[in-house]
Amino acid sequence: LTPVPSDIEISRAQTPKPVDQLAEEIGLLPEELEAYGRNKAKVQLSLLDRLHSQPDGNYVLVAGITPTPLGEGKSTVTIGLVQALSAHLKLNSFACLRQPSQGPTFGVKGGAAGGGYAQVIPMEEFNLHLTGDIHAITAANNLVAAAIDARMLHEATQSDKALFNRLVPTVNGVRTFSPIQISRLRRLGISKTEPTSLTPQEVSAFVRLDLDPSKITWQRVLDTNDRFLRKITVGQASTEKGQIRETGFDIAVASEIMAILALSDSLKDMKDRLAHMVVGTSRSGGPVTSDLVLKSNQLYVLADKLALKLVGRDGFVVTEAGFGADIGMEKFFNIKCRASGLRPNVVVLVATVRALKMHGGGPNVSAGAPLPREYINENLSLVAGGCHSNLKKQIQIAHLFGVPVVVALNVFKTDTRAEIDLVCQIAKTCGASDAVPCHHWSQGGRGCLELAQAVKEATRRPSNFQFLYPTEMPIVEKIRTIAQKVYGANDMELSPEAKSKIDYYNQQGYGSLPICMAKTHLSLSHMADKKGAPTGFILPIRDIRASVGAGFIYPLVGTMSTMPGLPTRPCFYDIDLDPDTEEITGLF
Ligand code: ADP
Repeated sequence: LTPVPSDIEISRAQTPKPVDQLAEEIGLLPEELEAYGRNKAKVQLSLLDRLHSQPDGNYVLVAGITPTPLGEGKSTVTIGLVQALSAHLKLNSFACLRQPSQGPTFGVKGGAAGGGYAQVIPMEEFNLHLTGDIHAITAANNLVAAAIDARMLHEATQSDKALFNRLVPTVNGVRTFSPIQISRLRRLGISKTEPTSLTPQEVSAFVRLDLDPSKITWQRVLDTNDRFLRKITVGQASTEKGQIRETGFDIAVASEIMAILALSDSLKDMKDRLAHMVVGTSRSGGPVTSDLVLKSNQLYVLADKLALKLVGRDGFVVTEAGFGADIGMEKFFNIKCRASGLRPNVVVLVATVRALKMHGGGPNVSAGAPLPREYINENLSLVAGGCHSNLKKQIQIAHLFGVPVVVALNVFKTDTRAEIDLVCQIAKTCGASDAVPCHHWSQGGRGCLELAQAVKEATRRPSNFQFLYPTEMPIVEKIRTIAQKVYGANDMELSPEAKSKIDYYNQQGYGSLPICMAKTHLSLSHMADKKGAPTGFILPIRDIRASVGAGFIYPLVGTMSTMPGLPTRPCFYDIDLDPDTEEITGLF
């Protein structure tokens, strides 16, 4: 329709196919499906075994140039491309998207289901709770946090003997260690498994994790942008007997457990990773892992792997790496592909005329504010400026990994023919295998046909995928490599805190983990207001943390926070429930 109706109107005008019918059409057996209502389901992992000998399809990663705070349409391109591949080119194809965090949905973004005629439906379910996985992650994460504080309280207030009696229960009249406790004894160098034969010193070493309260790295999480929880004090009730300490909250999707769900390639792998999460340091200086404070269990689906089998050799799986290619794509390749063993065939790099204009020197834009006129009227010199800086740099970043790049220009109705042609022409001179305009937002799959053909063509080219760094490279060098080669920094600079953490992680044997940078997505540098392709800067590393279970080290760059705040006028002002239609309104 013209004009294009609102996202939610388009979503509601569609009747989704029942999920069991869809499952049958894509070749799932009824017992492989775990339905959540009529429109959603999870898939049993046994499917992976059944399809084991099936060849994988083509693997396409949608990344983007450095975005404006408005979002540039990576999700719409992901959906539009799959609509074009499947409905128009008649190729088996899947889109694999991650459920959005409610923090940004109620904050500045208002949803992440794509939009227009290229979106996930039913969009309100996708944007709000889906199958409840983020809540499950929150609960598991906070159970670990509760277990840590409770354990410190119990150790502080009970004798060795009392702790031992409670920790090693009597089974059928016999005091018995659990398998986890036996492996803890082994780690302590105690080979005895007969509880009564432990010396008092051994009992003490066994029952006391002796966590240093000032060195607990495990935080609580919440899926809300609640900046006042960035730093809190816990344990103030008299029942906690003075065990007061400072801690804080992160956004739920920053939980290490979320990363583990994303990276695990089997249930066993996930259990191992969950057990190896480091929650803090003991007073004697050793790491304390989660298996000591808790045993936990979670199920998840390995979406990309399953989809690659399901589509077959000629099919396509399109997935998205959030933010600009410097952030999402770099981590996707260096961390996710390393863990999964999957290799991408093509990168689709999404650009918009408005973001390119901003990188070419146009004024900053903020969500909710009216767009300045530079973004509404034709301005070829701003567009060219953005192409020769940010677009060129992001293409080069994808080439560092040896993967061909197709630039997808997501067309907005204010874009002029001359602006569109200019972007496509410069993108090709900057090394893109192809660059095409996309009209999926206003036309659905038909509007993305040219992109689908370009992607199909690009998969015929050789992809010489390579990682940016070997994991054995020292931590400092890995960070420097990313700072210089990906961000364009002259060098990086470690705070004293970061330096001592690196020493500690090396000592503990975590030196060969890959790096997951926590940097603003609004600039290639650490300074959100520096657009284009900044050069000549030194990247400041404020602190470094380790997600040992998930399997990466994450440096905090500049002022980057792991708990976002809400803007003055958040999206939830417009989100409401209509009691007559029983529908949620105001998401976009
Ligand atoms: P990203 O994945 O890059 O964050 P999304 O695909 O979620 O971006 O799109 C962000 C918002 O912009 C959505 O509300 C979407 O409807 C809107 N949008 C995307 N492309 C267009 C377009 N071509 N014209 C108008 N609005 C668009």
